[in-house]
Amino acid sequence: MFSSLHLSHLSRRLGVLGVCAALLLPVAPAQAQLNSNRLPNLGDGADVPLGVERRLGESIAREIYRDPDYLDDPVLGDYVQSIWQILLASARQRGELTPELEQQFAWEVSLIRDRSINAFALPGGYLGVHLGLISAVSSADELASVLAHELSHVTQRHIARMIAQQGKQGPMVMAAMILGMLAASRTMNASSMSAANAVMVGGQAAAIQSQLNFSRDMEREADRVGYGVMTEAGYEPQGFVTMFEKLQQAARLNDNGSFPYLRSHPMTTERISDAQARQQLLPTRAAVVTTATHAMMSTRAQVLAKPGVDVLRSIASSAHATNLAQQSKPKQAGILYGATLAEMQQRNFVGARQHLARLHNLGGLDLTAIRAVRLLTAELALMAGEASQAVAMLEPKATVIASHDRATHMLLARSRVGTQKPEQGKTAASELSWWLNQHPRDASAWLLQASAYELQGDALRAIRAQAEARAMELDYGAAVDRFKAAQTLAHQMASEGKLDRVGHMEASIIDARLRELERLRREQALERGIN
Ligand SMILES: [Zn+2]
Repeated sequence: MFSSLHLSHLSRRLGVLGVCAALLLPVAPAQAQLNSNRLPNLGDGADVPLGVERRLGESIAREIYRDPDYLDDPVLGDYVQSIWQILLASARQRGELTPELEQQFAWEVSLIRDRSINAFALPGGYLGVHLGLISAVSSADELASVLAHELSHVTQRHIARMIAQQGKQGPMVMAAMILGMLAASRTMNASSMSAANAVMVGGQAAAIQSQLNFSRDMEREADRVGYGVMTEAGYEPQGFVTMFEKLQQAARLNDNGSFPYLRSHPMTTERISDAQARQQLLPTRAAVVTTATHAMMSTRAQVLAKPGVDVLRSIASSAHATNLAQQSKPKQAGILYGATLAEMQQRNFVGARQHLARLHNLGGLDLTAIRAVRLLTAELALMAGEASQAVAMLEPKATVIASHDRATHMLLARSRVGTQKPEQGKTAASELSWWLNQHPRDASAWLLQASAYELQGDALRAIRAQAEARAMELDYGAAVDRFKAAQTLAHQMASEGKLDRVGHMEASIIDARLRELERLRREQALERGIN
């Protein structure tokens, strides 16, 4: 029934809304063939096994990774992780995140390049955050309040209950419905859809919404549990209240559909007063403050959301405002950071350097903010074609890289590859091997690893790294193709006597990984009903 819909063309105007927020991803053609249900039938209530929910989540995440607006920006990613990991630790401490849930679910937050204010929780511990949300919140506490709410939908098994209610339709139908709702929450591409399509899809979407929205009771529970998770994590309770107020006020001023989160989270007045009542039970704490790091990450999100040339120009020109010096230091840092990045997006490197020099001269920034400025400086050098300079700024002899500092690891590797020097490729490959040892699911790191091997002329390892990247994006068909290409190359090299001892080891890893991925691809095909 849904197979005739072009869900990728859904737009925000349809007024659909989602699972605690909707999404927007194109549905691949195979995904739209929903007539077969090979997963086990789902029981009722919370009987949905964790493994089944996780696999449902994977089938949705796979489409998200393919979406052109899925964004792996390591700088923003590290910022979101710095909040997310603290919330997870708090939920663990409180007992909501059980060892079993923690182990079986992904607990992964994806960034979506969309200007609307939205965040969503998917089955299996996959979550998403629109860049519009990060640019709209004014503190880490506000962002934490939304993430904690979504986290709690997952730990309280609200999604499992919804799956159980819809289970008779089969998990793949459920996956397509969720993807359709995500598509409907997007702000982009609205003009590309015909009116007729809009009406047809709108009707379907409304029907889907009524089946997939969380209930009022679930929303209340996610507020209550999320509030506990966030405050026990050390975030200011005030952030929960100001976030709601911000959404309510924004909706009054601007009812253009930019707030899908609000549409899927109505009854704001009631929720604000609940949050205020809870807050009064706690000892008074400091007011929520905007840190320089938050201000910079917020403008980064605004610029990376592709707001168009006019907005980029206006972000850049705000650095020339006459009253800039009267603003707070964090605010000045955010404005100068945004102006630098906005000029970089327009490839005006002279302008970018001027703003960046003022940011460097600002002074008084803490270590986290200084790190953000250093990364921006290296990013500008790399973009302007000075990769060696970027390497010098980032490599370990110049700065100690924390083991969790993904942005520095990734940018340093990109810069080394950018020099086009084989010895830099070699260093990058060995540093990335260390990283991938700790983070084997990092698809972008595997792709960088492939470039580093190519630079050294190591085609066999380069192809294998590309295959691993596809596997980590859950695209098992593409991964099998790449592993087969690697296997063919290894055979050819062996027959020409070009495979040394290390090469033979690599070849046997490739054989084993190919068998494993072929098994995963068969399972994936069965779930989709394609034989
Ligand atoms: Zn919710």
